[in-house]
Amino acid sequence: MQETILIKLGELVLKGLNRKIFEAQLLKNLRRRLMGLGDFEVKSAQSTIYVIPKNEEADLDAAEEKVGKVFGIVSYSRACVAEKDLSAIQKAAAEYLRDELLDASTFKVESKRSDKKFPYTSPEISREVGAYLLEQFPHLSVDVHNPDVEVRVEVRDFGAYVHGNARPGAGGIPVGTGGKAAILISGGIDSPVAAWSIAKRGVELTAIHFASPPYTSQRAEEKVVRLLEKVSEYSGRMEMVTVPFTHIQEEILEKCPEELFTIIMRRFMMRTAERIARRKGCEALITGESLGQVASQTMQAIACTDAAVQMPVFRPLIGTDKAEIVATSYKIGTYDISIEPYEDCCTVFTPKHPRTRPILHIVEAAESALDVEGLIEECMQNVWYTRIGWHRKKEE
Ligand code: ATP
Ligand code: MG
Repeated sequence: MQETILIKLGELVLKGLNRKIFEAQLLKNLRRRLMGLGDFEVKSAQSTIYVIPKNEEADLDAAEEKVGKVFGIVSYSRACVAEKDLSAIQKAAAEYLRDELLDASTFKVESKRSDKKFPYTSPEISREVGAYLLEQFPHLSVDVHNPDVEVRVEVRDFGAYVHGNARPGAGGIPVGTGGKAAILISGGIDSPVAAWSIAKRGVELTAIHFASPPYTSQRAEEKVVRLLEKVSEYSGRMEMVTVPFTHIQEEILEKCPEELFTIIMRRFMMRTAERIARRKGCEALITGESLGQVASQTMQAIACTDAAVQMPVFRPLIGTDKAEIVATSYKIGTYDISIEPYEDCCTVFTPKHPRTRPILHIVEAAESALDVEGLIEECMQNVWYTRIGWHRKKEE
C-alpha cells in the first residue's frame, strides 16, 4: 500500500504575505532533513505539505521521525493513498487503520473533498466510510465528540488519502525565517533548552562555548558537542565556536575583588560572544538564564552583564522554573547528557560569596585593572570551530 506523510502547517498559515517565504523555508528545511533517507518528493498543495517516497528504498519511518522535529509544523499524519473511488477508500480505511481500530472502542470519520469532481460530498463520504467500518469492526461505536480514533479521508486533486489520528508537530516557525543568533552554550541543563526555544521561533543558531583548559577537559567540550547535536535535530546544523577562556579568568582572579569575579567574567563572556556573533552575521545573543536562579541571574546582575554589550540579549527561559526547563530537556533529549558530571568553566573559579546585586560603576572600576581589549583580542585569536549536525552528509 502506498503511503505518504501529510503535514499541516503551524502558525505560518496566519502570516499573510510572509506566508510564501515561510512555506518556502519550511520546504527547504524538510528537504534538507530528509537527505540521506532515500528519494522523497516534498511539495506543497492545498495548504498541506506532502512527503512522498519515490521508491521502495525511501525510509518513511525515519522520515516521519525527522518531520516530527521540524519547526513550523502543527501536526502531521502518515496516510495511505487510495484510488479515488468510494469502495477503494472504504477498503483502504479498514485495512490501513486496522490495528488502531481494533484497539479503539469509538471512532468517527471526518472527510474533506477538495476535488469537487468527486461524486460524493464530504458528509456522504464520512457516512459511507463510517458504515463500512462499523460492519467490519462490530465492536466499534461512533462518538463524534471524543472518539478514540478519528478516521480522516481527504479526497484531493491527485489522490485520496486515509489516515488516523494526527501527531502533534514540533510547532514554532521554520528555522531561517527569524534571523540568526548566537547561543552561549554550557554543558548545563538550561542553555540547550534556551537554544531549542529560540530556534523554535525561527532563529538560525551559531553556538559559542567558553572552555578553560586545562581546568576543563576535552570530554567536557565533547559533551557540549553532543548536546548541540541533539539541539540540531530541531534547529538544523550550526557551527560551534569554542573560546579558550582560562587566561581571562586567571587575570580576573588575580586583579579583581573576589566577590565580583562572576559578574566580571560574565561581562567578558558577553563581549567576546558579541564579537564572534558579529563576525558570524548574528543579530542577538541568547543565554539560558532564568531570573533569580543563581547569584549572576538577579535583575541587577543581568543589567550589569548586558551593559557590557550593545547587541540585544535574549533569555528565552527568563520566566521559567527549573522543573519546566528539566521537562523540556527530557522532551528534546538533552537531559541525560546535561547531567553527566563534567566541570564547566564557570564553576572552576567560582567565588564562595558572589555579589548578588552588583553596582555597575563599581564593577567598571574593578575592571579598569584589566587590559580588557587585549585579553579579548588574545582569546579571539585562539578560538576553534566544530561543525554540528553536518555528519548527515548529504544534507546540503
Ligand atoms: P546552564 O545550565 O545553561 O549552564 P546555569 O543555570 O548553570 O545555565 P550559569 O552557569 O550561571 O547558569 O550560566 C548562565 C548562562 O551563561 C548559561 O545558560 C549559558 O547561556 C551561559 N554560559 C555559562 N557557562 C558557559 C560556557 N562555559 N560557555 C558558554 N556559555 C556559558
Ligand atoms: Mg551552568
